[in-house]
Amino acid sequence: MLKDYFKKLYTGTQADFFDRACQAMDQEKKLFVITANPETMMIGVQTPEFDQVLCSAHSVIVPDGIGVVKAASTLGLEPHGRVTGVELAAHLIQHAGETGRRIYLYGAKEEVISALVKKISDTYSPDVLAGYRNGYGQDDKEILEEICRLKPDVILVALGIPRQELLINQWFDQLDKGIFVGVGGSFDVLSDTKKRAPQLFVRLNLEWLYRIVKEPSRFGRFYRSNIRFLREIRKIKKQMGK
Ligand code: UDP
Repeated sequence: MLKDYFKKLYTGTQADFFDRACQAMDQEKKLFVITANPETMMIGVQTPEFDQVLCSAHSVIVPDGIGVVKAASTLGLEPHGRVTGVELAAHLIQHAGETGRRIYLYGAKEEVISALVKKISDTYSPDVLAGYRNGYGQDDKEILEEICRLKPDVILVALGIPRQELLINQWFDQLDKGIFVGVGGSFDVLSDTKKRAPQLFVRLNLEWLYRIVKEPSRFGRFYRSNIRFLREIRKIKKQMGK
């Protein structure tokens, strides 16, 4: 239930969350991060299987979308801003590169993932990459076997919501270590294939608007889920007598 997602929502700063994730990496612990926007949460409300993943004690939900941050404030939490998937992915790659840890990348088109692999290899070393696969026509079982064999420290899955989180959830128990994050379209941005919104849009919390203007096909999905999200948040607020 939507209310439960907010009960476990991370509300600290992005910098503190990055530290926590990097510490987990250094200590070879397991961490499953869901970078949520209103759409993510509404898929959870409508899909019991995904609802379980969002409510699971294994997963941590961080507020990627500004809609989630605003809703959290409305519900009386004190969020310290967004924790974005794209910046988390960049930070984990950097930390792995600087500390000799290894990353596995799964998702996005072949040309996108190849460009990202080249960028990471050139910036750090090819050894940082435990393995990688594009996100089209792959056998997920084979990929799990590969991850079990390679034992990477970070597993970034860029297949879009909710597929990436459902997959991580299936894998999570079968691995002894790893920072697992579903990162949506982050590989497209980190490989420089797609531009992230200019900093001004990010600062003004209008990154969502930039994405819709650039990809108008997103509008329908975005509009429907955000309207429903607002309605649900209003209901919860009423129930809480706020
Ligand atoms: N993708 C993929 N396999 C698929 C469908 C999508 O690898 O079958 C990739 C796609 O190339 C893109 C990412 O998944 O890199 C999804 O990006 P999007 O921005 O749509 O993610 P979301 O809005 O779900 O965060």
